[in-house]
Amino acid sequence: MKRETICVQGGYKPTNGEPRIVPIVQSTTFKYDSSEEMGQLFDLEKSGYFYTRLANPTNDAVARKICELEGGVGAMLTSSGQAANFYAVFNICEAGGHVVVSSAIYGGTFNLLVNTLPKMGIEVTTVDPYCTEEELNAAFKDNTKCVFGESVANPALTVFDFEKFAKAAHSHGVPLIVDNTFPTPIMCRPFEFGVDIVTHATTKYMDGHAATIGGCIVDSGNFDWMKYKDKFPGLCTPDETYHGIVYTERFGKAAYITKCTTHLMRDLGSIQSPQHAFYINLGLETLHLRMERHCSNALTIAKWLENNEKVAWVNYPGLESSRDYKLAQKYMPNGSCGVISFGLKGGRKAAEEMMDKLKLAAIVTHVADARTCVLHPASHTHRQLNDEQLKEAGVSPDLIRLSVGIENVDDIIEDLAQAMN
Ligand SMILES: *Cc1c(COP(=O)(O)O)cnc(C)c1O
Repeated sequence: MKRETICVQGGYKPTNGEPRIVPIVQSTTFKYDSSEEMGQLFDLEKSGYFYTRLANPTNDAVARKICELEGGVGAMLTSSGQAANFYAVFNICEAGGHVVVSSAIYGGTFNLLVNTLPKMGIEVTTVDPYCTEEELNAAFKDNTKCVFGESVANPALTVFDFEKFAKAAHSHGVPLIVDNTFPTPIMCRPFEFGVDIVTHATTKYMDGHAATIGGCIVDSGNFDWMKYKDKFPGLCTPDETYHGIVYTERFGKAAYITKCTTHLMRDLGSIQSPQHAFYINLGLETLHLRMERHCSNALTIAKWLENNEKVAWVNYPGLESSRDYKLAQKYMPNGSCGVISFGLKGGRKAAEEMMDKLKLAAIVTHVADARTCVLHPASHTHRQLNDEQLKEAGVSPDLIRLSVGIENVDDIIEDLAQAMN
């Protein structure tokens, strides 16, 4: 099926007499007739539901839909995008390991990877996303376990060079993990360019209505863990907490995502609630339509800003003037996302004043939903970063993040114009 059809119908196929839309299975637990059967579930000898922290039919259906959209072999929902990114790394990298991270990533993820992981004994090296292959290769160490990037960085809008990073990761025997929140699989499918694991904050476009926090991890099934089994003992040697099963032997291509559920979700427990998975699914049903409108509105507004004399600079990957235009054309030719960053000639002060005057666009700590909104990262999402880190993350002090919604584009432009005036 094509992506539009998967959005509407993927992940769930009712049989005779079953509910037409994904039912909310609001139950912590599931009943079995024999104690023996329940025991087999605990040993992963049989598959089936027994406790919602490990698996739930509503969550599974929604994860399956996202998995089909990305073209993976398995997926897992988490309670937030933060949890998804943490699990994606921690599933293969523990104390003593090392991660190579693109510096152009979401502020929350930057904090998690650069400040919190080291407290757990994991070393981190950040690299400039525009680095040369030589500089990139120099970031790897013997204990490197994975590389992490973001397909279109929030809010710098840097387009990630998937093939450059995948080549370096694979030549060092480690997988490439990419947060694909901004383009969504409608605009870009990272697995087609060598990415091994994709994560999402479903909180953003996938939900699309600013109703629900959530995350997702999708496994392409392409990384050959056994080829580098010394690097990944968690996947390639017996897990004593499951009577010695070896994930790669038992689950093959789905080894990584199965361990993520049976090990990390079991122990750390950031499960999505089935009720919220249901809301995310409602969002997914129109994701293809909304992304098209977000992108066309954003391109129109980016061009308008570019021609506005009060505007100092505009960055949108769809503009020919963007540093990332070529990368965007290569990896996401039909559009990137609805988010634009720009600065006013009056700098930081003008940015704050202009934002206060907006009527239709609201100042909210959110991005990528149906309603147009703005944020000033230097004083909001990224305020914990110092000037040097802000620069590394591609966030200048005057940067306004404009998340273009799906309203009528003329109304959004009129609002921006009156606030600037
Ligand atoms: C918002 C966001 C996250 C974090 O998601 P939460 O659901 O807020 O935890 C991660 N990555 C990106 C790119 C985001 O925009």
